[in-house]
Amino acid sequence: MRLSRYFMPILKENPKEAEIVSHRLMLRAGMIRQQSQGIYSWLPLGKRVLDKVNNIIREEQNRAGAIELSMPTLQSAELWQESGRYDAYGKEMLRITDRQDRPMLYGPTNEEMVTDIFRSYVKSYKSLPLNLYHIQLKFRDEIRPRFGTMRSREFMMKDAYSFDLTREGAEHSYNKMFTAYLRTFDRLGLRAIPMRADTGPIGGNLSHEFIILADTGESEVFCHKDFVNFDIPAEGTDFDSVEGLKAVFDKWTSLYAATSEMHDEAAFNAVPEGDRLSARGIEVGHIFYFGTKYSEPMGAKVQGPDGKEHTVHMGSYGIGPTRLVPAIIEASHDENGIIWPASVAPFDAVVINMKAGDAACDAACEKIYAALSNAGKDVLYDDTDDRAGTKFATADLIGVPLQIIAGPRAVASGEVEVKDRKTGARETMTIDAAINKLL
Ligand code: ATP
Ligand code: MG
Ligand code: MG
Ligand code: MG
Repeated sequence: MRLSRYFMPILKENPKEAEIVSHRLMLRAGMIRQQSQGIYSWLPLGKRVLDKVNNIIREEQNRAGAIELSMPTLQSAELWQESGRYDAYGKEMLRITDRQDRPMLYGPTNEEMVTDIFRSYVKSYKSLPLNLYHIQLKFRDEIRPRFGTMRSREFMMKDAYSFDLTREGAEHSYNKMFTAYLRTFDRLGLRAIPMRADTGPIGGNLSHEFIILADTGESEVFCHKDFVNFDIPAEGTDFDSVEGLKAVFDKWTSLYAATSEMHDEAAFNAVPEGDRLSARGIEVGHIFYFGTKYSEPMGAKVQGPDGKEHTVHMGSYGIGPTRLVPAIIEASHDENGIIWPASVAPFDAVVINMKAGDAACDAACEKIYAALSNAGKDVLYDDTDDRAGTKFATADLIGVPLQIIAGPRAVASGEVEVKDRKTGARETMTIDAAINKLL
């Protein structure tokens, strides 16, 4: 991507409305724009990061055996009347009436709709277990939308829904998502700790929130500090192994960890004082087992091996991609801007032409840009005629992991400078060596 032809509206001034660093940096880097309260456009740079986050989520959901579909944002009120949640959900639900006066709503979550899909097609235990997910916009009319996309009214959610014949089966499905979540957040460069959580309006009795520790988090959390260094389940994890996943779950729930709603002061005080971590956190994911809460009133049943009808056991599993992007920034930035983990960086590298229009600098940059682009790398080429200082500041602000800097003096001896955004380390090397560093 040539910056001269890209759309990346950088703000020079610090936006006054932004109270936390991630919101400030997302606005300054031209990643998002608020369209009305708590409703955002994702501008091209932000969209690139969001897509990378969603792809990692998708890969780990698929690895765990979940199957992707896509459900609509607008739902008919009828389904919610069936489950009994239409009245219970309250003012967070945006209710709409269509031209035939039918009550509709912008979905805040999809338990009812997916249960309707399930009951329409699945009739036998032989089709179980089944886990269906989508990555789709949701709407919740939050009383206090704030911090940019961290708490917005329209936001994206990956929501998965599992169906099993028995409670034991449902617990294995729960452990699959539990394990997939540990892997997902790790690949996003985050340390998320599963904490015993309240189930809220989703209902049920087994539930964990995945929490990132951050001073700007809205949740108050209490946990054993050893969770910060626990090992993440490997890529080769066997998701069909009931015992294997139970061992992951047991290990990651063996020490104290709870949000304020579930906090048990006495149990926490039993943790040695030096090991207690009492902090603020950001909820980036939440998983629930809720048994037959929806399948019962909505009649989602299958025929079991005994020939009888059984109401299925369900769970639901949410992750907030549009909250994760600012959460990653909260965890990884410095005074100059964002520092993206390589896995979600909008570009793999930025090529900075310090003297656009100079034949030698142009040729060197074009060569690097072509070689890396042809190799399938995402490269931003700053070919604008801005001052070098402005280019450096922009590159630091948008947080691309590697900067390849081509100035007249180095280029005259066939060299460029490569700067690591995270460490700030600079290294001079030949143009070919710079290219090879990324291949
Ligand atoms: P919160 O406690 O922050 O209000 P929640 O518990 O209401 O979130 P869930 O119903 O558990 O949210 O939804 C699953 C995930 O969706 C959350 O863990 C979070 O990552 C994301 N999410 C929920 N509400 C929002 C929001 N208003 N803006 C952005 N992401 C959200
Ligand atoms: Mg909420
Ligand atoms: Mg919550
Ligand atoms: Mg929650």
